[in-house]
Parts: sequence; structure tokens; C-alpha cells
Amino acid sequence: MQIDLKSLTYTELENFLKDNFNFPKYKANQVYKWLYRGVTTFDEMTDISKKDRENLKEKAYINILEIQRKLVSKIDGTTKYLFKLSDGEYVESVVMRYKHGNSICISTQVGCKMRCDFCASALNGFIRNLTSSEIIDQIIFAQKDLGEKISNVVLMGMGEPLDNMENVLKFLENIHHPEGLCISHRHISLSTCGLVDKIDMLSDMDMQLTLSVSLHAPNDEIRNKIMPISLKYPYEDLMKSCKNYFNKTKRRISLEYILIDDLNDSKECAKMLSDRLRGFSCHVNLIPANSVKEKPHQKSPMQKVMEFQAELKRNNINATVRRTLGSDINASCGQLRNKEKQN
Ligand code: SAH
Repeated sequence: MQIDLKSLTYTELENFLKDNFNFPKYKANQVYKWLYRGVTTFDEMTDISKKDRENLKEKAYINILEIQRKLVSKIDGTTKYLFKLSDGEYVESVVMRYKHGNSICISTQVGCKMRCDFCASALNGFIRNLTSSEIIDQIIFAQKDLGEKISNVVLMGMGEPLDNMENVLKFLENIHHPEGLCISHRHISLSTCGLVDKIDMLSDMDMQLTLSVSLHAPNDEIRNKIMPISLKYPYEDLMKSCKNYFNKTKRRISLEYILIDDLNDSKECAKMLSDRLRGFSCHVNLIPANSVKEKPHQKSPMQKVMEFQAELKRNNINATVRRTLGSDINASCGQLRNKEKQN
């Protein structure tokens, strides 16, 4: 079986190349650099001899993502990619342009098992986990296409990253290597719907990631209605786990809260949320829900969003309203893939 080279860590690659072809370390370093620059064939590795390249082709391969579609927002330059994977499945990634640099939102699974009621990602169910190379390749091939460096990464696209823990951890090991993408864990946010046992595992690893938790409700009653995962991991346990993450890593947690009209956006909800978060060092990110064609939920009116934020602030809870980017290209994840599948 051929080896997917980008699924190996730097040290594993060194060992593989040494054991199979007796490559010295400097040559493994050259191969590693080419891979993370986004070459698609071994023949592009011009400082590797032809004979070595032929040997490589026999035992290894380079994973590739093809750009199936690319949409660029006329409003703010947000760029959305629909990537085609080697088995014909699709994933989406979105590059956001900020003054401080480029940030990319990437996917970790094809589809999703979590079945959150408001989300487009799981509409066609769960297909499969992405490999660590398919996760990192979204950054490599977006960077290559843009001709620009990406400095921040959010694992907030399709899928639940903590439901694909093994490959996500491998991805995290590769992403900060100085000879590769060289993106520090401090510039990465991982978003989860709240898999408590996996959050605890992350806390123990103390990796300096920013943890985003999709909360979306002030209590179990409302959360249970829209997020089935809440039936498995109740609110109390989730908050305990979040506090543990902060205590161990000293990284402030970001809590995501989608505002859905007449479901979780009342003043009482804001008060309840404030009570639950009192004394906890966190940041609440309020997101007016994007409407998904197949779902009944409506976006809260801006007036209610502002009132919700004001109530949190009155209670000394840090809260911002997420700026909408790429509104003209349906930049929220899941939507483009669904469209492609229907065609
Ligand atoms: N499974 C992870 C990451 C994927 S979802 C998680 O749940 O966090 C990424 C973010 O997009 C989450 O905060 C999710 O709740 C949000 N999201 C999903 N559907 C949305 C919609 N219709 N409108 C606004 N945000 C949405």
C-alpha cells in the first residue's frame, strides 16, 4: 500500500524516507518543504534526483484537493472553496481577509453526526472523517491558490472536530512545524458542539488552542431542543469542562451563541446565560442565525440581538456580535456542498 506522505509527522516522514530509501535528514527536509508548499507531483521536487523521485512514486503518494468551485465575495473579498476529495466527496473552506492577515475556516468531516437542528452540515448525514492530510490540505491549497500566507485557522467548518480526534491531533502536530505551515497553536481555534470527554482530553494536552464551544442556549431545556448532543452531555458537565480547560491552559474560552428568533433570544435567556457565566473568564460570540433553506429557524431581528448583547454586558459578560462576511456567497459552511450534491 502506498503511503500518504502528508499524513506523516515530520519525524515519521524522516523515518519512512530513511527506512525505505536511505534518505539522509536533509533530503527528508527538502521533501517535507515541497509537500507543504503544495506540490501535486513528485516531479515538481526539483532538488530531488530523478531516481529518488521514481522510487518515491512506487511507495508513496501526495494527497491533492482539487478546487471544484471558488466564490469570491464582491463585498469583502471573502473566498469560499469547494474542494473535491480523491474519492469524489466535497468539503468547503472559507478564507476571510482581515487587516491583520488571512484566516481560514476549515472542515474536519464530510457531513456530520451531531444533527444540530439549525445547521446545514448534517443535512445529508455523515459520510466520513477527513484524514489529517485532507484537513491540512485545505490550508495548503487555499494558500497556493491565493498566493498568500494564511496566518489563522478556525476548525469551524463542516463536521465536529472532536469526533475525529485522532486525525485532528495529527493535523495539529503538523500545522505548527517550522518547515511546513508554521502556524502556532495560539492562532488556531477549535470549535466543538461540546463533547465533554474530548474537551477534557484536550485540557490535559495543554496545547494553547483557543477553544470555541457552540453553546446556543442558556439551559438544558432549550439546548436539548436544538442540539441532540446536549442529551448526552448536560449543561453543568459542559460548563465544568470549559472551566477546567481554562484553568489548565489559561486560554479564555469563546462561547458561540446563535440567536434564533423566539427560541433562545429573549431577555430572560440573556439573564439566565449571564447567571450561568458569572465569574467565568470567557467571551460570548453572538451570531444572528443564518437561515438554511431546509430548516424552519429564522434569524433574530437585529434589535433583539443588540438587546441580548446589552443584557450580557450589563452583567459584565464579554460579548460581541459576529460580523457577517461573505453574505453574497453563502459563506456559511455546508451550503455549497449541498448545492453541488443536488446538481
Ligand atoms: N461542530 C463544531 C464545528 C462546526 S459548526 C461546532 O458545533 O462548533 C461551526 C459553527 O457554525 C458553530 O458555532 C455552529 O453552531 C455554527 N452554525 C451552524 N449552523 C449555523 C447557522 N444556520 N447560522 C449560524 N451559525 C451556524
